[in-house]
Amino acid sequence: MRFLITGAAGFRGAPLANALVKGNHSVVGLDDLSTGDPKELVDAVHLVRGDINDRPKLWSLLQGVDCVYHLAARVIVPESVLYPREYNTVNVGGTVTLMEAMRDVGVRRVVFISSGTIYGNQKTQPVRESNRPNPRSPYAVSKLAAEYYIRTIGALWGIETVCLRVFNAYGPGQRLPLTNAPVIPYCLRQALDNGTIVIHGNGEQTRDYVYIDDVVKAMVAASSVPDINRMIINVGSGKETSINELVKKVLEITGAKPEIVTNQSHDSGPSSMRADLAIAKKKLDYTPQYNLEQGLKKTIENDPRFQKK
Ligand code: NAD
Repeated sequence: MRFLITGAAGFRGAPLANALVKGNHSVVGLDDLSTGDPKELVDAVHLVRGDINDRPKLWSLLQGVDCVYHLAARVIVPESVLYPREYNTVNVGGTVTLMEAMRDVGVRRVVFISSGTIYGNQKTQPVRESNRPNPRSPYAVSKLAAEYYIRTIGALWGIETVCLRVFNAYGPGQRLPLTNAPVIPYCLRQALDNGTIVIHGNGEQTRDYVYIDDVVKAMVAASSVPDINRMIINVGSGKETSINELVKKVLEITGAKPEIVTNQSHDSGPSSMRADLAIAKKKLDYTPQYNLEQGLKKTIENDPRFQKK
């Protein structure tokens, strides 16, 4: 098959592109490289630098494409609080531009990488796809709005659509900015550098951490399995882990003894998060292979930033 991956140079896009090439598919990537790193891609991926809102570029890149994976997005929740217009332009506007271009060219299927953050606080766990979304940030709203556009435009023009609501993915190569760093690479870096780990809230808030290779498997399956048109599917580990448990695990695995500080006044987001995986199992034959300990060990082994100097 021939694929276009938007956001191909990103943390999730690059391993997906590399896995598809390994499976003998032809892969074109589109990325503006605002955060992505082209060095993460194998040579066989044809990467084109460009913006998701560039419709003429999309028209030419979509020629002959069987399926699009749409990952290009701004992804930092606190940043979306400061710059909601930017998040709307890229995450919502970019999705509409892509769907229009797909309609014009006539592409069969799009797999949209949505996010578990659209659920926000829910009364019960695990969260099912039928739960009413409760987004708490412009980022989460933008992903939910994009889902609606994808499914609505897809239904109107006969484009098959699949929305994967991915929970907290982690693994080698995850970006580690100085501010708003994702929690797992942040804890690993602080532990291994013998720095300070700041826990926001009381540390009892839980998240569903899923290793990147499991996410890639689910993404790959979503482009080819039959009878999933218009479906929304959770992709997570099916387990919830509190920040306190996560930090404990990081200390056990690394043997490090960083300073631990709690910041009770900081908003720590939803109190719990765990994906229900029944639909993923049934439709994508998805069963996560890595528990948190295995995933953390593989992250350290495969990411030079976490190896002892
Ligand atoms: P990432 O920042 O590594 O990847 C996003 C990619 O999109 C980057 O390579 C970036 O350069 C590119 N991009 C950004 N703006 C663009 C634009 N205007 N035009 C073209 N390319 C652009 O983040 P990621 O974690 O790999 O996220 C990939 C997808 O997964 C996103 O759609 C995100 O919403 C979704 N997702 C992320 C999380 C998370 O916790 N980060 C959770 C669930 C789902």
